Amino acid sequence: MKKKIAIVGGGAASLMLALKLDTNKFDVTIYERNKALGRKFLVAGDGGLNLTHSNPSNKFLLNYSPLAFIEEAFNSFTNDDFVNFLNDDLGIETFVGSSGKIFPIKSIKPIAVLKAFENAILKNKVDLKFDYLWNGFAKNGNLLFNQSSVEVEADIKIFCLGGASWKVTGSDGEWKKYFKEKLILCKNFEASNCSFKINWGKNFIERNTGKALKNCSYRINSKTVLGESVITAFGIEGNGVYPLSQEIRKSIEVGGGAKLIIDFKPSFSEEKVFEKLSSSHKKNNSEILKTELNLSTVQLSLLKNYLSKNDFLDFKLLANTIKNFIVDIKELAPIDEAISTVGGIDLSEIDKNFMLKKMPNHYCIGEMIDFDAPTGGYLLQSCFSMGFYLATYINRNYS
Ligand SMILES: Cc1cc2nc3c(=O)[nH]c(=O)nc-3n(C[C@H](O)[C@H](O)[C@H](O)COP(=O)(O)OP(=O)(O)OC[C@H]3O[C@@H](n4cnc5c(N)ncnc54)[C@H](O)[C@@H]3O)c2cc1C
Repeated sequence: MKKKIAIVGGGAASLMLALKLDTNKFDVTIYERNKALGRKFLVAGDGGLNLTHSNPSNKFLLNYSPLAFIEEAFNSFTNDDFVNFLNDDLGIETFVGSSGKIFPIKSIKPIAVLKAFENAILKNKVDLKFDYLWNGFAKNGNLLFNQSSVEVEADIKIFCLGGASWKVTGSDGEWKKYFKEKLILCKNFEASNCSFKINWGKNFIERNTGKALKNCSYRINSKTVLGESVITAFGIEGNGVYPLSQEIRKSIEVGGGAKLIIDFKPSFSEEKVFEKLSSSHKKNNSEILKTELNLSTVQLSLLKNYLSKNDFLDFKLLANTIKNFIVDIKELAPIDEAISTVGGIDLSEIDKNFMLKKMPNHYCIGEMIDFDAPTGGYLLQSCFSMGFYLATYINRNYS
């Protein structure tokens, strides 16, 4: 008799897993609460499906916090492996965008990528069960679904239940309580890769909402990121600030707020900025900032909003502010609006093969375990690496 594998949750992490499990050895079924696979995967593709990143492995791994839990899984299925798999196995051509992010070519929509995965899963003879909402364990350890009206027995249970943002996609984090009942340590969910609240002031918001801060660097404590952010009525968001989520979260936790330092001219030293300002023949400071330093209207607006008239005319102070523009962040965006969450299954609860130490033959992969990574393809890559690694492990170690 073949062993039964139940995969609970049909998101990004379960796609690669289901595709790679050896169905000559195992009966594999995915149980998903929605009527389709990968709803969050499709949401992630709304602004372009950023599947992974082209960074070399050593640089790639530095984006995970902590790093150790993913290292072996990533090395078993790297970003290069993923791109080769997309191209060769799924027929999905990819391209590298200007910032190193990897996307399917423009003519391939996210739904086509998802369909390619689904077809490959079906070809692998994996059974798909939709409208199956998992609600915990029966006394005998079986899986309970749909308010315990359905009980499923399985030899190996793999949970791919996702984080707790964008509940509308099915990933609501409600599963945490069922693991807590089993004395599995679960951390509270918190927002990551999210907007950060800044009290800009009414006039500034009216004039600048939706405008981008380009070519800046963003610093908090010792971490600096180069990138772009967008001014919103809530505060600030975008690739320039998402990688600072962890530092911002910690500062808010410890000190009730975080000081984000924006450098408007990262390619110039403060001395060079001062020199440019003071050597200009132009009379008007705004003109000097635009022509000599190429600052945008939103950067000018920020400077004028925050500096008194006298300070704005003081080149020394102005140069220092251009290099160290401080904004106070008080809050993270609500969890449901975040791109990802941290929290969930504590890493101390799983072994290096993602098995729950207290529950043999029970595994957890994907965003449901407590790690952090920025957007840019690192989140999806981690799901595919974990799925590949776990499938390989199970194929090899169970008969
Ligand atoms: C707006 C947005 C943009 C993003 N952009 C990017 C990006 O550019 N790059 C990147 O790498 N990542 C991005 N992500 C993140 C990425 O989509 C997620 O990290 C990834 O989908 C997590 O995969 P997962 O399989 O762990 O969880 P999910 O994809 O969330 O899948 C979990 C599945 O489990 C199901 N489920 C949950 N509870 C139950 C239950 N009780 N019973 C049965 N089924 C259940 C859910 O319905 C869901 O289908 C983005 C996310 C969002 C929201």
